[in-house]
Amino acid sequence: MSTFQAPKGTYDLIPPNSATYLAVREAIAAPLKNSGYGYVETPGFENVELFARGVGESTDIVTKEMYAFETKGGDKLALRPEGTASVLRAALEANLHKGGNLPVKLWYSGSYYRYERPQKGRYRHFSQVGAEAIGAEDPALDAELIILAHQAYRSLGLRDFRILLNSLGDKECRPVYRAALQEFLRGLRLDEDTRRRIEINPLRVLDDKREAVQEQLIGAPMLRDYLCEACKTYHEQVRELLTAAGVAYEDDPKLVRGLDYYTRTTFEFVHDGLGSQSAVGGGGRYDGLSEMIGGPALPSVGWALGVDRTVLALEAEGVTLDIPAATSVYAVPLGEEARRVLFGKVTELRLAGVATDFAFGGKGLKNAMKSANRSGARLALVAGERDLAEGVVQLKDLASGEQTPVALDAVVEEVRRALG
Ligand code: ATP
Ligand code: MG
Repeated sequence: MSTFQAPKGTYDLIPPNSATYLAVREAIAAPLKNSGYGYVETPGFENVELFARGVGESTDIVTKEMYAFETKGGDKLALRPEGTASVLRAALEANLHKGGNLPVKLWYSGSYYRYERPQKGRYRHFSQVGAEAIGAEDPALDAELIILAHQAYRSLGLRDFRILLNSLGDKECRPVYRAALQEFLRGLRLDEDTRRRIEINPLRVLDDKREAVQEQLIGAPMLRDYLCEACKTYHEQVRELLTAAGVAYEDDPKLVRGLDYYTRTTFEFVHDGLGSQSAVGGGGRYDGLSEMIGGPALPSVGWALGVDRTVLALEAEGVTLDIPAATSVYAVPLGEEARRVLFGKVTELRLAGVATDFAFGGKGLKNAMKSANRSGARLALVAGERDLAEGVVQLKDLASGEQTPVALDAVVEEVRRALG
């Protein structure tokens, strides 16, 4: 071990497990790439004000969890705690919304940072794959995103996840509900912090995880009883489209993402094998966000799925992904001349698209063959002085042990044939 360790709340992705992370990222991205979403990548940090406005001044993310700092040049920045604000900022900055081609559909994959109390499934550095569909109000778009996340989890082989669905109303009906909820909440016995929250962001009080708060919330007014006709119809259409697609969901009238610009559809993917960190992903419609960060009105919807928790969900269900061995062929030279010749063959094979590795460091035959087996390769190329004198290398099937001499200039062809 070195003097240093990974910082608290972080961990390293290391082979072979890191391959699972890559596969999960790819599995989540695949349905998006297949559905008209283009890849977007934004900086790991932004002006702190983007998140203050774009995530919300009253959220835990901004008040407690953000890594904010001032640079030597006096810029006030923050490591990104989430993706939506950055992606929308980038789309606006590039005028993607002006191409007359709405919605702008984007997907991303990256690292996010939150100063949280570390525990299983909750880290200070974590990974998300996300999707945003910017600039269209269409229940089919909300449904599309939920269906694609569902498809991603299914393709990974996950079964024990559930989709929770709710509507948060819009700027017509939400204020009426908000006022009714505030009136109800003001009558409860709550601490100072929570009282303040009632005035700033009352919906988030519903999300309070504490037992003492939850039991007082019984009988609180429910948003679904306040939805206007337009919101009801919209929500009904989303539900019908999901049902038609065979995607099961549960109506959860208490599911809130309590930011003022979150509107209508809101959803969360939860996994039942994860204990208290059960949310593997979440998202919803954010029709007001663009205006909050100085853009035009652009009704949008998106989600972010947590890669770390998805990997934990796979473990919880005992699912192992079928990840093919990285290496197909392993070359083992015996002697200096063989090193030179085989190294050339390795390069040739790689250029021909065959995943090939080489016994570096002048290992003896026994050690080199151990490495060959450990690499997962199906074939080994072994050559010593005598082979070279005859103009051949030995092609060895590592499973059967069968070995055949192959002419030097036929190696690529023979390897390809043997790999099928
Ligand atoms: P939670 O309620 O668990 O704090 P959240 O509402 O803060 O989750 P989102 O902001 O919706 O989470 O992020 C989407 C997904 O990103 C989560 O469902 C989760 O899988 C993942 N995620 C969020 N925070 C963390 C974290 N600190 N460590 C690992 N994964 C995280
Ligand atoms: Mg959180």
